[in-house]
Amino acid sequence: MQQHVVVTLTDTEEEKGSEPPSTMRAEEPPSSSLNDPAVPPKAAGQWNDWRWQIRNRIRTLGQLSGYVPGLSGRDDLKSVIGKYPMAITPYYASLIRRADLSDPVFRMSVPNRQELQDPPCLSEDPLEEHVDMPVPGLIHRYRDRALLIATTTCSMYCRHCTRKRIAGTRESSISTRRLRQVVEYLQSHPEISDVIVSGGDPLTMPDASVESVLSAVRSVPSVQVIRIGTRVPVVLPMRITEDLTALLRRYHPVWINTHFNHPNELTPESAAACAKLADAGIPLGNQSVLLRGVNDQPQVIEQLCRGLIGMRVRPYYLYQCDLVRGVEHFRTSVRAGVEIMEYLRGRVSGIAIPTFVIDAPHGGGKIPVLPSYVVSMSPTHTVLRNYEGLLVNYPEPGVESMAEEPSELGASPGVWDLASGRASVIQPARTLRAQRRESIRSRRVGQATGFLFDQ
Ligand code: SF4
Repeated sequence: MQQHVVVTLTDTEEEKGSEPPSTMRAEEPPSSSLNDPAVPPKAAGQWNDWRWQIRNRIRTLGQLSGYVPGLSGRDDLKSVIGKYPMAITPYYASLIRRADLSDPVFRMSVPNRQELQDPPCLSEDPLEEHVDMPVPGLIHRYRDRALLIATTTCSMYCRHCTRKRIAGTRESSISTRRLRQVVEYLQSHPEISDVIVSGGDPLTMPDASVESVLSAVRSVPSVQVIRIGTRVPVVLPMRITEDLTALLRRYHPVWINTHFNHPNELTPESAAACAKLADAGIPLGNQSVLLRGVNDQPQVIEQLCRGLIGMRVRPYYLYQCDLVRGVEHFRTSVRAGVEIMEYLRGRVSGIAIPTFVIDAPHGGGKIPVLPSYVVSMSPTHTVLRNYEGLLVNYPEPGVESMAEEPSELGASPGVWDLASGRASVIQPARTLRAQRRESIRSRRVGQATGFLFDQ
């Protein structure tokens, strides 16, 4: 249940969670029957044309109320859009299943007046990116990496964006002169081997501009890897054309990190876009942001991560929301993220588990935050716990055997016995794994052991 209800029609309506969703996801792309002349009529072939999608983004409240009739007359949102622009591709709008804040796609794309309510701990640029910018548009924070803001344009302006201060406020892309300065800086800093092309969303630029940026960066011999940060596979999947993938292949090694936050964003269209990129030899990672009311339930992240690996996208980071102005209503506790990590470990494969990080204020970089798995340490042993609650010790090199003395606690060793080597494991009694082992053991009674296969 959401705590703050602003854009919904009424509080009561939001609470109708048990009603069937009034889906806006049409089998076919939406037609002009979506009841507003502002919504462009579909024409054959246009829906799958990414330029058409960009040209017809929902940018005004009038257009938006064509999709969400309950928003007509919500003039209070004008000031929100005035500060933080709105743009929603018709494709992404079609993923809204219920036109209120209980819907994750709605929540991430439709402006909310809470964006203007900032507690004092928030700032425009909490990561202090502008301080780490030796030339305009290039952030150099870690020694071997740099991030290039290639454009301030996105096809969809996420309401939770960490670069709200620039995304969409003036839609423009890097000039040739600025790009030259960036190349000069990279040339004079050969320690930078990894350049992240970001924005805004760099894949909203036309192919020729994407190529200019990639060829400029690739011209620097010390740059080994180019990474592209883009939300296009999520909000504008038709942008991943054969021409674009052919272009990207020319600049390998190219990696892409995308930004899926919720399983409802995993559609046949987004899967097809990711498949094209993966088939072009581009390793794909995903950076999610932990967002209140969107994906702060462990089961939602599990479903998302399982879906992503099915699409050949490796869950990479799960970000705690930055302390950026305009996103307070999206912030969760750090505990919520730790709980999700605890839930995932042991339940899904390691390749489906992202690293939960806090991007430290003041430009401190990403700090992983984990549940605690190291229980104790001694000069000879480290005591660890697994996802089931099993406690086990790991001997340091050179520790030849377990100590001979029995546990001081007799048959019930404690953590000290593990740390000192008097016991090696404390097993929880009734785990599924223990039951499976027991059943294997009982089936094996009387059977020869030592062979994997019949002789
Ligand atoms: S696509 Fe990325 S840069 Fe653009 S608004 Fe969304 S989060 Fe921000």
